[in-house]
Amino acid sequence: MLPWVVRRTRLPLLSLRCVDCRSESATAGEGRFRVNANGKLLDVWLLVRCVSCDRTSKLTVHERAPVRCFDPAELDGYHANDPELVASRLLDPLLARRNRFTLDWKGAWRLDTPSAWLDEGWPVQLEVVFEDPVPVRPERLVAQGLGLSRNEVLRRIKCDIPLRRPTSAGFTFTVMAGEPARPAGC
Ligand SMILES: [Zn+2]
Repeated sequence: MLPWVVRRTRLPLLSLRCVDCRSESATAGEGRFRVNANGKLLDVWLLVRCVSCDRTSKLTVHERAPVRCFDPAELDGYHANDPELVASRLLDPLLARRNRFTLDWKGAWRLDTPSAWLDEGWPVQLEVVFEDPVPVRPERLVAQGLGLSRNEVLRRIKCDIPLRRPTSAGFTFTVMAGEPARPAGC
């Protein structure tokens, strides 16, 4: 059976306090780097913008790093604002820690579920894979994917990982049969 897939639909926002207006939300927009050469050392920043007042902040990606340490393709990516590179840097937990922000994934991802799973007999085993590191609560994800209430999820799902703790690592779960089906026509 095909796995369910969690993938991002756009770049997440950043929960990052603005020094001007105290808003706590910033966006990387389309994604723009700034590269500054200082002799043989490079600084690379990712630019983000406060969503309230538009103030631009610089997130440190590399600080005084020797030019020779850069893969030429990576360096080209920084100069060209390569969208893949923007995403990979923004989603890198190291960048978040160093620059003290968290990612706000609200509305920035979706769950793709292949259809027709209901034709199978019970119990059904399903797999969830993450194309992007979106932290989700398994109980919410499963409820959404199966169209069940959260209570029903807790009753009918067997899973090796805690259903209530957010994860962004793939997992499998088993759906047990629900209430006995009513005879047709009732
Ligand atoms: Zn602001």
